[in-house]
Amino acid sequence: MMDVLIETRGLTRNYGEICALKPLDLRVNNGEWLSIMGHSGSGKSTLLNLLGGLDRPSDGFIRVGGEDLRVLSEDGMARYRREFVGIIFQQHHLIPYLTAVENIMMAQYFHSVPDEAEARTALERVGLGHRLKNRPGELSGGEQQRVCIARAIINSPRLLLGDEPTGNLDHGSTRVVMELLSELRAEEQFTIIMVTHNHEVAAWGDRTIYLDDGVMVREELKGD
Ligand code: ADP
Ligand code: MG
Repeated sequence: MMDVLIETRGLTRNYGEICALKPLDLRVNNGEWLSIMGHSGSGKSTLLNLLGGLDRPSDGFIRVGGEDLRVLSEDGMARYRREFVGIIFQQHHLIPYLTAVENIMMAQYFHSVPDEAEARTALERVGLGHRLKNRPGELSGGEQQRVCIARAIINSPRLLLGDEPTGNLDHGSTRVVMELLSELRAEEQFTIIMVTHNHEVAAWGDRTIYLDDGVMVREELKGD
């Protein structure tokens, strides 16, 4: 379990004059749960997008699960995102006119083949067996995020990324979502990297890194 899943060296992302991520050296072990904290604008989403294959670095080295993301073709990046990564955002990005189960089937469609029975099972696993036919607007914020978790893990990703996924949730729903992620991770052994503003949420991780103005300024191991 201690093999390295992610390695970056001198990883950099500039937007014109803005240096959103300054040369970053980071290693994340397979199966680790890493939390990322920092003020707004410190480069957290920039880093997460690079790890998720949603964006390309300006400079530096980024290797995830044996793939050199800097040199991967567009098709290779699309395959990497589809097969390797699951992402949960602060906004749920569910399709409003589709039911919960249809939203999951949509993700299956882009990966391989929609399978309604499998989609139902995924929703049952996140405690939404009674909400299969509801549309996002009929679900609470916490339930919507649980649909997003089901969608993110339906294709068995090795890397689960969260960009402030509990940012819009109340304390109780946040707890439900975090317990769920913790249970699923114990079963599926994926690696989690989660951006959050909430210290309680960050504390679910094995390690927390702090970004400030594009620089990793601090690192805390659980129990420090
Ligand atoms: P965080 O997620 O920590 O709030 P971001 O990674 O979104 O921070 O942003 C880091 C910096 O990069 C900010 O100064 C932001 O304005 C800038 N930035 C992010 N995305 C873009 C973009 N697409 N174009 C220009 N500047 C951007
Ligand atoms: Mg952000």
